[in-house]
Amino acid sequence: MNSTPMSNVKDMPQAAWHVFSADKVLRDLSSSTGGLTDDEAARRLLQYGSNSLPAPTKRSPLKQFLNQFNNVLIYVLLSAAVVTALLADWIDAAVIVGVVLINAIIGFIQEGKAEKAVDAIRQILSHEALVIRDGSKRSIQVENLVPGDVVFLQSGDKVPADLRLIHSKDLRIEEALLTGESVPVEKSIDPVTADASLGDRSCMAFSGTMVSFGQGTGVVIATGEVTELGKVSTMLAGVETLKTRLTESMDEFSKLLTGAILILAAGTMVFGLALRDYSFTELFFAGVALAVAAIPEGLPAIITITLALGVQRMARQKAIIRRLPAVETLGSVTVICSDKTGTLTRNEMTVTTILRADRAYQVDGAGYRPQGSFHVDGNTLEPGKDRSLIELIRAGLLCNDGSLSHKEGIWSVQGDPTDGALITLALKAGLNSQQCNKELPRKDIIPFESDHKFMATLHHDSDGKSRVYLKGAPERVLEMCSHEHHESGDEPINRSYWQEQIEAIARQGQRTLAVATLDAGDKQTISIDGLQSDMTLLGLFGIIDPPRDEAMAAVRSCLGAGIKVKMITGDHALTAISIGEQLGIDVTSKAVTGQELETMDNDQLEFIAGRTNIFARVSPEHKLRLVTALQASGQITAMTGDGINDAPALKRADVGVAMGLKGTEAAKEASEMVLADDNFASIVHAVKEGRTVYDNIRKTLAFILPTNGAQAGIIIASVMMGIALPITPLQILWVNMITAVTLGLSLAFEPPEGDVMHRPPRSPKEPLLNQFLSWRIVFISAIMVMGTLGLFLWDRHHGETLEMARTTAVNTLIFFQIFYLFNARYLKTSVLSREGLLGNPAVLLSVAGIIFLQMLFTYLPLLQKLFGTAAIPAGDWIRLIGFTLSVFILVEIEKMIICRLEKNKVKK
Ligand code: ATP
Repeated sequence: MNSTPMSNVKDMPQAAWHVFSADKVLRDLSSSTGGLTDDEAARRLLQYGSNSLPAPTKRSPLKQFLNQFNNVLIYVLLSAAVVTALLADWIDAAVIVGVVLINAIIGFIQEGKAEKAVDAIRQILSHEALVIRDGSKRSIQVENLVPGDVVFLQSGDKVPADLRLIHSKDLRIEEALLTGESVPVEKSIDPVTADASLGDRSCMAFSGTMVSFGQGTGVVIATGEVTELGKVSTMLAGVETLKTRLTESMDEFSKLLTGAILILAAGTMVFGLALRDYSFTELFFAGVALAVAAIPEGLPAIITITLALGVQRMARQKAIIRRLPAVETLGSVTVICSDKTGTLTRNEMTVTTILRADRAYQVDGAGYRPQGSFHVDGNTLEPGKDRSLIELIRAGLLCNDGSLSHKEGIWSVQGDPTDGALITLALKAGLNSQQCNKELPRKDIIPFESDHKFMATLHHDSDGKSRVYLKGAPERVLEMCSHEHHESGDEPINRSYWQEQIEAIARQGQRTLAVATLDAGDKQTISIDGLQSDMTLLGLFGIIDPPRDEAMAAVRSCLGAGIKVKMITGDHALTAISIGEQLGIDVTSKAVTGQELETMDNDQLEFIAGRTNIFARVSPEHKLRLVTALQASGQITAMTGDGINDAPALKRADVGVAMGLKGTEAAKEASEMVLADDNFASIVHAVKEGRTVYDNIRKTLAFILPTNGAQAGIIIASVMMGIALPITPLQILWVNMITAVTLGLSLAFEPPEGDVMHRPPRSPKEPLLNQFLSWRIVFISAIMVMGTLGLFLWDRHHGETLEMARTTAVNTLIFFQIFYLFNARYLKTSVLSREGLLGNPAVLLSVAGIIFLQMLFTYLPLLQKLFGTAAIPAGDWIRLIGFTLSVFILVEIEKMIICRLEKNKVKK
């Protein structure tokens, strides 16, 4: 993946960094709080190598190849080859061995391809770190970190390298990975003693551990293999296999089938010996033929490929699967619980309403472009002339961790979009962030967390006086205020007035945010508990964040597919209801708030969770309870999340969905799927793909199994009748290996059926081979047995040679498959349309390929010799095609009857 060499252990500066002061560490690493320059970082990258661990060791290709032989069928075939050789039938023995080899090579290549596809997708999920380079903050790939880099950490981050901390604000890190201790460790920047164990080195942050709270900054002291994690990396060398519940149950099914077939083969031989006039050799071949005929050799490989193709298609639609079983689970999801901000909405926040105690303002403009004017009662206002307004806007600018950038005419925000909206507002009002921060430099901060729903900063003015600015969810901020600011001075707060205003703004679908301030004397630090109830409310902001257009369509599609959509948001209930309504979510049962959730016991919650679609002012802990309640009532739940506190709910959900853009590493690691574009519509696309993959696997089963059933049926029937085998074991191998697998594989490329999102979710309890599929397999097998045996007997009756009759029989079987392949594209709906017949180019291509191969099989002297075939006259093809076309017609009629029966059932 990376061309740079691995970390060079000898070169890396080594010391007991935890013993030294932060300043000394920076000096020793020739770095500073301003980080490294780009040139120096590039030089160090060359010197020390990339910050990555060696890729986990995979099974060697040889082992992977040999593994292809570890299969009961292969044992059966090889024993058959040995017996055939003992009987001095060299050609047959050689062909069997050849087929075994071809099978192993095909399996090896396909497995490799599937693994590569899945690996490639995992690599899209690269991990980034926020560093200072050349004096400015920026995100870089963690592989490019070098000793001396200054890295920022915040809750939810995965520590990207070993760091000596140089700043820590309530920083807590979970180090279970290294120390086994699951309680997060409190960090500080003070040195510790030389003999402190890893868990006690509180001034260090170790690569791979997870920040669970607070913020910090550290200087990189070790990268790659030299990190503490690198030293124990063998622990993590496990490779995720491509096994899923589905492939496992398929494996089991194959084993059962093989057992049953071996018994059946033995039974047939005994029957033939006792009651019919066969020689042992003939019966031995019949037994081998039966075993070979009935075992679906290619099936496991096709299922793996179908899953891998699904994963690839999902990735193209911005849904990246981290755990393969999620592909199946997605197909049976019944509820999607989605965050609102950025997932259902555009995350383009714009302040449009401003409210102070004695004035209301409207602001123009959309998105983050700082263009727009201020209005009061319809009249344009010069914001600079309204001191109280400027004080309010400046508070929003100072209590802010975001930044705006502007490239090729597009304005975008780095950091929290709510913060971005306030910066845009300040620019519209003519304020300059650098100037404001110079006048009132920041001394301390309480970062925003969804749990407490506010952010506060402490600033000092030029006289050394402190001032606190606080912004957050209005209910929280109001609790902390005793006064409100008026043009004429501060007055006691009028809570009912503000409550009404908050609701009025929220009802318009706007996110509400309140801003307060406090004269803090000579305070040097602030803490959550230290902020009491004596602040002064400066005013309120109403922020619009319009729903995404594609989210509306996706919600509609979910409703059509029998999937409920529930919005889980930290926003105000009325904002959530308004946005929910715009999106088409059923809001008749109103919203339930986090506070209300807390008063409910589990039974009540289960009842409410099923009926309510909007959950507002919810904290991450509530999400876990919600998923659990939904699952208790039998729902298969997909849940989105981004923060570290969302991780338990994401883990618990049937499909945890993390945000790729704004999500933390912790959330991504807890999830089954990551959305590259944070978009709700991508979840719905993934559900559609999940359903399609499952459909395609069922179509493949419905296609391949009848071929096996038919071949087995033909052998059994011929032994019963006491006639020569219509197909030899070698010919059966040909049919199974070369044709069924290529034809069957084309179904893995089937696009979604038109009704895939118009039917209810599949019950996860429904067996893969349900009643309908079992019927279909028996039905087709019967048609194929009758047709093939019929033509064989006809030829024999008309004096054709055995070779000729067998060649006809094999071609009949193949043409049955070709026609049936078209039927199998749709399980229950008719394929009699342009799309139905020509819609999958893979089907057309594989049909063309098979026809070509059949021509070789029939007319090429070498293959005639190997497979015992003979050139059938051209005229015979008309009869053969006419005969085999019957399967196509019969299945289309069967589909019509089944649809009618199902409709009648629904009516009743
Ligand atoms: P959703 O769950 O729909 O994505 P959310 O995660 O954006 O919503 P939170 O981020 O928890 O919800 O925000 C809840 C409330 O906290 C907001 O309504 C707003 O009032 C306040 N808030 C959001 N961002 C900030 C911020 N950066 N600083 C201060 N307060 C904020």
